[in-house]
Amino acid sequence: MNRGSGLRIGKILGIPIYLHSTWVFIFVAITWIIASQFKQEHPLWTEAQHWTVGILTSLLFFASVLFHELSHSVVAQHYKIRVISITLFLFGGLARIEREPSKAIQEFNIAIAGPLASGFLSIGFFGLTFLFPYKESVGALASWLGVTNLYLAGFNLLPGFPLDGGRIFRAMVWGATKNFDKATRVAGASGKLIAYTMILAGAYGTFNGHVQNGLWLAFIGWFILNAAQESVAQVAIRETLTGLSAADVMSKEVPTCPGHITLEEYSAEVLRTGRRLHLVVNDDRLVGMMNVHTLNSVLRDEWAHNSVQSAMIPREKILWTSPEEPLLRLLERLLSSDVNQMPVVSGAIDGAPQIVGIVTRDSILRVMQTRSEFGPLAASR
Ligand SMILES: [Zn+2]
Repeated sequence: MNRGSGLRIGKILGIPIYLHSTWVFIFVAITWIIASQFKQEHPLWTEAQHWTVGILTSLLFFASVLFHELSHSVVAQHYKIRVISITLFLFGGLARIEREPSKAIQEFNIAIAGPLASGFLSIGFFGLTFLFPYKESVGALASWLGVTNLYLAGFNLLPGFPLDGGRIFRAMVWGATKNFDKATRVAGASGKLIAYTMILAGAYGTFNGHVQNGLWLAFIGWFILNAAQESVAQVAIRETLTGLSAADVMSKEVPTCPGHITLEEYSAEVLRTGRRLHLVVNDDRLVGMMNVHTLNSVLRDEWAHNSVQSAMIPREKILWTSPEEPLLRLLERLLSSDVNQMPVVSGAIDGAPQIVGIVTRDSILRVMQTRSEFGPLAASR
């Protein structure tokens, strides 16, 4: 899921809140489940009452999920970790933070805040049920939310990454071993175990008459499995790229082309040399950058009538890197801005920059591949 994708519905504590498109499905499904439950358990209510209380309960449920995510966020902000966004989506909520916590105790506190918040809400809603009887709207609503928030707290405490319990588990292993990558692998492995258990239990339930719950359980298990695998893969990437910078993988050859040639001529140049990126130079002055991606954004029929100059990425829009930039950060920038290559510049960019090379995604991936073939020995730490 992309950062902050979906519909922005507001800002709390400086954090933009988004509704992902998949949230609509889960909102409709949960509202329908609640309303059906109320229809069964409160036959004396009117149809309108079933639905209004159902919708209200469902909205408060997602407010509870938001509260859970906000409590993670408040603790993260306390440690000066910026919270980029909170998104409500198919499987609940997701708070995206700018970076991993730098200490085990920070990760522990950020992770535990969520289940604590859900537990706190659960107690609050159960408290309301003492004041309002279950046969009335408020009592039914409070009772549903009390139970569900308790489930939410309990489920999130399962000790497998990426659940909160998995993060708590990771923080404990991290604190004990002082090794973040190892801790992630351990928590990722237990996340996979929990995911497989959920998928199997879900499949068993599906074939034994509990189709709806069984499928849902298996579906959540599959989601957790993906997230667990991803977190372990990220650690592997971190390990292989540690200690390397742009200068280590850049190609020192910097192909150039003049701005006045047509796109047709440019494509011929690309085909002839196999080079997919050129710096555009007019009278020894750098004016922009041209690559195959930009070429393909112009209709084929128009290649003959357009110059490189008219289609190129202008100088001020080029993303640069420096020889010293760590490869891991560079790779993240390449991926997040969706570019394949970056020129490497040494010296001040607005002063007299000197282009010393080009880094491509492929060159980084090649290094990762080679290093992972040599095993952990190659990734010196
Ligand atoms: Zn959480």
